[in-house]
Amino acid sequence: MTAPFNFSAGPAMLPGAVLARAQEELRSWRGSGISVMEISHRDPAFMQMAAKAEQDLRELMAVPDNYQVLFMHGGGRGQFSAVPQNIAGQNDTVDYLNGGIWSDFAIREAQKYVARVNVVGGLIDTPQGRAIAPVTDWQLRDDAAYFHYCPNETVDGIALHTIPEQVQAPLVADMSSSILSEPLDVKRFGIIYAGAQKNIGPSGFAIAIVRDDLLGRAQTTASTVMDYTVQAKERSMYNTPNTWAWYLSGLVFEWLKEQGGVAAMGEVNQRKADLLYQTIDSSEFYRNPVHPDYRSKMNVPFLLADDSLDADFLRQAEQQGLLGLKGHRYVGGMRASIYNAMPLAGVEQLVEFMRDFEQKHA
Ligand SMILES: *Cc1c(COP(=O)(O)O)cnc(C)c1O
Repeated sequence: MTAPFNFSAGPAMLPGAVLARAQEELRSWRGSGISVMEISHRDPAFMQMAAKAEQDLRELMAVPDNYQVLFMHGGGRGQFSAVPQNIAGQNDTVDYLNGGIWSDFAIREAQKYVARVNVVGGLIDTPQGRAIAPVTDWQLRDDAAYFHYCPNETVDGIALHTIPEQVQAPLVADMSSSILSEPLDVKRFGIIYAGAQKNIGPSGFAIAIVRDDLLGRAQTTASTVMDYTVQAKERSMYNTPNTWAWYLSGLVFEWLKEQGGVAAMGEVNQRKADLLYQTIDSSEFYRNPVHPDYRSKMNVPFLLADDSLDADFLRQAEQQGLLGLKGHRYVGGMRASIYNAMPLAGVEQLVEFMRDFEQKHA
């Protein structure tokens, strides 16, 4: 049997070459006779590897020097509480765009740490499908300590493809499911964060890219492991980091550089998304509920016209090695997550299966 294609939303597919290398090095990292998981994070070899991973990520994303790159605990949701605790006071107001399910979770978490979470706007229904309210309709507050949004809503399959211009407050973006998927102008942001398990590496790990002027503002009650200023000073080793995740993420960064970096990834990702959406749009059998301008290039939800065929679809897909296509439990239907590690060939095989299934059942 050929290797399956894994469309899981997260934890998600990792590049085969990265897994092969991790396997090769597992029992004896750099000839040490022990694994990378079994050595001190203060060991010079580990510190060198960790620094290289950071450097590679900086290169890949062209992170300016006035930003810290932090390797954090607690995945994406850990950052939902880290952000308000780090850069807003308990009496402050903060702005949030509610563009989908993950934004909604972030809003509810922020409410614990600040006086007021102002929701500036959110999802709207249009004749062409679900969309995000235009920026001109957003109710922004002049006194907001920051503005938070999620450019790619993993569950809803909705994306904001332009960085909002009108916002004066520091921009904070949850890029858990879109980081490294295309070129990005980092300097437009105050903070970019991402749980690692979609486009980077293992779960429970997160990257936070924090502009220097936002350091030193943490609430006095903030959790120390989540304190950006402490972690920046300690090079993300205030406490023991997730050494395995750091190592594996470093392998993914090396792999990305070999692929030609985020510009090359962006082109392939666009082709993958186009192929899948074209297949959906050209059929009466499949449907995507999102306005064309707001469609995610990473997570493509789709519904069958007859949902009694859902179980059959998933079973037959699995038999053909197309895994992880079940939609999120909140929205049902199907979802194909096509992050960096998913090759074009995987999407080609998926659309072939979809056309086949349609022919048999339409
Ligand atoms: C998956 C995801 C999260 C949550 O990540 P965890 O690591 O499970 O906490 C947050 N935001 C977005 C956009 C996600 O896709």
